[in-house]
Amino acid sequence: MIPVIALVGRPNVGKSTLFNRLTRSRDALVANYPGLTRDRKYGEGTMDNRRFIVIDTGGISGEEEGIDSMMAGQSLQAIEEADIVLFIVDSRAGLDHADYTIAKHLRVNNKKTFLVANKIDGMDPDIALAPFYELGLGEIFATTATHGRGVKSMMEDILGEIPENLEDEQAEVASGIKIAVVGRPNVGKSTLVNRLLGEDRVVVYDEPGTTRDSVYINYERHDKPYTLIDTAGVRRRKNMDLMVEKFSIVKTMQAINDANVVILVMDASEGVVEQDLHLMGTAIEAGRALVIALNKWDGLDDSHKQYVKSELERRLRFVDFADIHFISAMHGTGVGHLYKSIENAYRSATDKFSTNYLTRVLQDAVREHQPPIVSGRRIKLRYAHPGGHNPPIIVIHGNQTSEVPGHYVKYLEKTYRRVLDLHGTPIRIEFRTSD
Ligand code: GDP
Ligand code: GDP
Repeated sequence: MIPVIALVGRPNVGKSTLFNRLTRSRDALVANYPGLTRDRKYGEGTMDNRRFIVIDTGGISGEEEGIDSMMAGQSLQAIEEADIVLFIVDSRAGLDHADYTIAKHLRVNNKKTFLVANKIDGMDPDIALAPFYELGLGEIFATTATHGRGVKSMMEDILGEIPENLEDEQAEVASGIKIAVVGRPNVGKSTLVNRLLGEDRVVVYDEPGTTRDSVYINYERHDKPYTLIDTAGVRRRKNMDLMVEKFSIVKTMQAINDANVVILVMDASEGVVEQDLHLMGTAIEAGRALVIALNKWDGLDDSHKQYVKSELERRLRFVDFADIHFISAMHGTGVGHLYKSIENAYRSATDKFSTNYLTRVLQDAVREHQPPIVSGRRIKLRYAHPGGHNPPIIVIHGNQTSEVPGHYVKYLEKTYRRVLDLHGTPIRIEFRTSD
């Protein structure tokens, strides 16, 4: 399971700067649901092929009152959600009494914690770090978040401490295609999960596998095995901890990462909202096959339906590979049809192709439409081979491949998608230069 790292510390020590550096260009998911967090920010990062979730928090000043205490509450929740806490201090400002308060909390909290002395630029590390040993948190990493100094080696050390088997925790729990049902609160996830499991000819195995955050429900439909990753907490509510947050971004992100196919549920009566797009972006970044379900299609009048459809056309261009279903989880309308898209997307995401075939498609594509000339030389793309599946990765070898323009990558992607008949999954094209 993808590990979760929380950034905590006083305001202004450099948490957001570090967050941005770790998550790079990715859009952050901001938890701003009613009754939930005010400003925890969630992003995903990758380092040496290991993915992780980062949570940024408002900051703890140690003298919280009113709205500030709510923000501190967010930090405390982020700590709860995390596998690892990075406690950031400001090496220029030195030790502050709030740092003691935070350190005390972290010591009793029993979470794996690392102390990070940021803003080390222009400082003598020995002198700057000395006071912070007093916090009793062991080794200190020195960083300059603004320039990235010390960040990579720190992350390598930290990720090295996370057991790899955290990632396969539930591999044995699942059987068949792993389907995650995700979406904002109240879009109808629980209703859909119940509907999927309540269908005719669906046999649900007795014992759901549980991980820290989600429930894995194994079932058979028409004698085919599936595993539903239930982020909505349908099963949990019956027999497990009632205090568990019903909706959590970490849970959602982890389910997306662990699934083969993601069903993104949206509420048609509300149209497409920003948070839906962020969740979609997260699924695409993770390379997951995707099926979109516009729920609550019942009860919309024709003009509203027309409006929603035009919104989809306008705002979902970046996921034009995904099937869209208009469903009513409540009445069951359209729910069975989801399986055709799930099967198709899974097949596309996991199909195997030979080097010969991928190379032939490449050569035909290049013949049809040559890559451009850069610095007096034409970019040459020579051969292609498979680089992985779910998502399908196509590795292309050639000269000057770092110069291949975005529109040409799109062209190749489109060609592969058409010729290989790939639906419902993102495709990754990677280049290797051989000159
Ligand atoms: P946060 O409130 O903890 O999220 O802090 P920010 O990330 O917003 O940073 C607060 C200020 O410190 C900003 O002006 C940053 O540019 C600056 N800052 C962050 N990291 C560094 C650093 O490593 N060195 C220096 N000199 N300034 C930094
Ligand atoms: P979740 O928070 O995403 O799990 O959403 P729920 O499944 O709890 O549903 C939220 C609300 O939407 C409930 O009141 C449901 O009865 C209602 N709802 C769910 N699906 C549909 C649907 O297809 N049509 C309509 N009209 N209401 C629905």
